[in-house]
This record gives sequence, C-alpha cells and structure tokens, in this order.
Amino acid sequence: LLITFEGIDGAGKTTQLLRLASWLEAQGLPVVVTREPGGTRIGDAVRAILLDPRHQEMAPRTEALLYAASRAQHVEELIRPALARGEIVLCDRFVDASIAYQGAGLGLGEAWVEALNEYALGGLRPDLTLWFDLDWSSARSRLRTRAEGGGLDRIERRGEAFFERVMDAFERLWRAAPEVRKRIDASRSPEDIEQEIRALVWNLIQ
Ligand code: C5P
Ligand code: MG
Repeated sequence: LLITFEGIDGAGKTTQLLRLASWLEAQGLPVVVTREPGGTRIGDAVRAILLDPRHQEMAPRTEALLYAASRAQHVEELIRPALARGEIVLCDRFVDASIAYQGAGLGLGEAWVEALNEYALGGLRPDLTLWFDLDWSSARSRLRTRAEGGGLDRIERRGEAFFERVMDAFERLWRAAPEVRKRIDASRSPEDIEQEIRALVWNLIQ
C-alpha cells in the first residue's frame, strides 16, 4: 500500500504522516516512512541541489527533471521493494506535488509534468493520496513558527501568487479523481485530522 501526503508547505503533512506511522506500527503493521524529494542517498543529494537558496538561476525544466530524477530513484530503490515485501509506504509528497508546483506553479504545464512523471514512475500509482487543503496565509504562519533551523528554502520563498496556482492545481487533481485522492480540511485540530486519516486508511487496509 502506497499512501502519499500532498499540499502546500505548512499544511501539516509531516506531522500527520508521523502520527499515522506510529498508529499503524502500534497495530503491528509494517510501515516505511519516506519523503520527496529525497528518500534515498541519491534523492537526498538531488534535494540539496533543489532547495539551496543560492540556486536562483535554476531553469524551470531543470527543476522539474530533478524532482522526477529523485522520484525515479526513490521508486526503484525504496518504494517498489518495500511494496513487494508487503509494507505500507507513507510518502511525504509525491507526483501531485510536481504537477502542482512545477506544472502549475512554474507554468510548465500540468500535462507535460504528468507525462514526465509517468516515465519516472514506470507505472506505479499511489493507492491513496491525502490532500491537505489549507489557505496560504494559515500555512505561512505555521511555517514561520516552525522551529526548523530557521529560514525558508528556495521554493518556500516564492510568493502568494505562486502558491495560489499550486493550490488550484491540487484542487483540480482531487476533483479529477476523488476515488484515489481524499481532501483533508487541514484547518482543523491535529487530533481531528488524525482521526479522519486513521478511518480512511483503516478502510483501505480492511
Ligand atoms: O515537503 P518539504 O517542505 O520538505 O519539501 C521540500 C521543498 O520542496 C518545499 O519547499 C516544497 O515546496 C518543494 N517542492 C517542490 N516541488 C515538488 C516537491 C517539493 O517545489 N514537487
Ligand atoms: Mg516545505
């Protein structure tokens, strides 16, 4: 089972992913927690290139290809083998992030980025995608209070207009396939969200 967590920065994906992982482990289920960009040694090296605030000159196509490269390695090296062992893989961001951030946010075109990622994924699809829906200003204030070694990364520094395009794309993806994507109202308390996610995932496991 592959479950992916999507939404803009500061929406609460990572918090909920870790809570779900602990709960699944407590049920005696094998869980793998991973993230994108990253998840492998090569992926983490690509992540460092992507997020470095000095890389202002990075072309949008380069950015899209680097995310896809990190994903291709992640799928081959970590995700497929874990799924083959029967493990539940929880992934912090996946292909929807690329369609939204690079396809819509950077204006490369959602269809192009989707096609590029079909190549990177080699047919793999998440079983469930949780889309954390939160307005930009709430997400921003959560980011600001996050004690994360200070400062925003290269992409978090982009402004509201960029994130509005990203949020619209996440919504379009959800509307296009609501059977595999669930919208999570991320403005609620962490406890309420946790309960909803447990119910969704339990449903899938049964
Ligand atoms: O999820 P996390 O915040 O750790 O992701 C790292 C950074 O990469 C974030 O700033 C996120 O906005 C950005 N990102 C992106 N495009 C993706 C995935 C992540 O711009 N496809
Ligand atoms: Mg972030």
